Amino acid sequence: MEEKLELWKKAGKIAGEAREFGKELLKENSNFLEMSKKIEEFIQKKEGKPGFPVQISVNDLAAHYTAFPEDTSTLKKGDLVKLDLGVHIEGFIGDTALTHEVGTNKNQDLIKASKEALNEAIKLCKPYTKVCEIGEVVESTISSFGFKVIKNLSGHKVDQYILHSNISIPNFNNKDQTRLEEGFVIAIEPFATTGIGLVKEGKPSSNYRLYNPKPVRDPITREILSFIQKEFLTLPFAKRYLTQKFNAAKVSFALVNLEKLGIIHQYPQLPEKEEGCLVSQYEHTIYISDPPIVLTKL
Ligand code: MN
Ligand code: MN
Repeated sequence: MEEKLELWKKAGKIAGEAREFGKELLKENSNFLEMSKKIEEFIQKKEGKPGFPVQISVNDLAAHYTAFPEDTSTLKKGDLVKLDLGVHIEGFIGDTALTHEVGTNKNQDLIKASKEALNEAIKLCKPYTKVCEIGEVVESTISSFGFKVIKNLSGHKVDQYILHSNISIPNFNNKDQTRLEEGFVIAIEPFATTGIGLVKEGKPSSNYRLYNPKPVRDPITREILSFIQKEFLTLPFAKRYLTQKFNAAKVSFALVNLEKLGIIHQYPQLPEKEEGCLVSQYEHTIYISDPPIVLTKL
């Protein structure tokens, strides 16, 4: 256990450093692909590995924008950016996010709402707390700022090589009586929104994970599948990670096949149902004990 916690602390610390490093890159005209690459290089230099591809989602997009292989999109003045990233060491993952406004200060209350909700929730991260109590404090904090929570996005238990494990940490009181236990690691991620408080499934994200591995006949697909299994195991990966190693046409062909066969799953982008609204998010990964240990704090 001790050794496991040490690795988790190390991964969490790098994730926290990468988050702060990444924040400095969130400027007008910054390119999504270049920012993502710089952050992922930073993680590798610190001897961590990305726990999942860097996610940079703006405005009404709550989550799951992953830079595409030839992504030319850039940040604009006034964009409300959620930077969400993960670092793992031997499968122990630190998952963390912040929100930043590009070149303005118009939505500081919205940003503060999710940040304070996270801070309040962390105080409850001790053994015996019910997960619905965390949801309750997240929602009451965000409502006190005059915003809504996103109800169909939640935090999650984290296990070795499993980013979203079997316990959900709600952003409202969903009556779930599951209790936290000493040694659990959970990610709490409050989302505050000016919209209706629900996300829908949007466009494909080019962000995937291995879902149900089985033998495949086609040699190109087989080669790429074996790379995915070796390199990422069950952790999410981006299409651009594959195009760094393999010919782009091969990668596209293999990914379509693997998705059709149900071997991999592609995450959709997650926009708020109310178009044009704004969403903020903060996230930390926390080791449950008394007092709690925030693994992704600097
Ligand atoms: Mn996250
Ligand atoms: Mn998370």
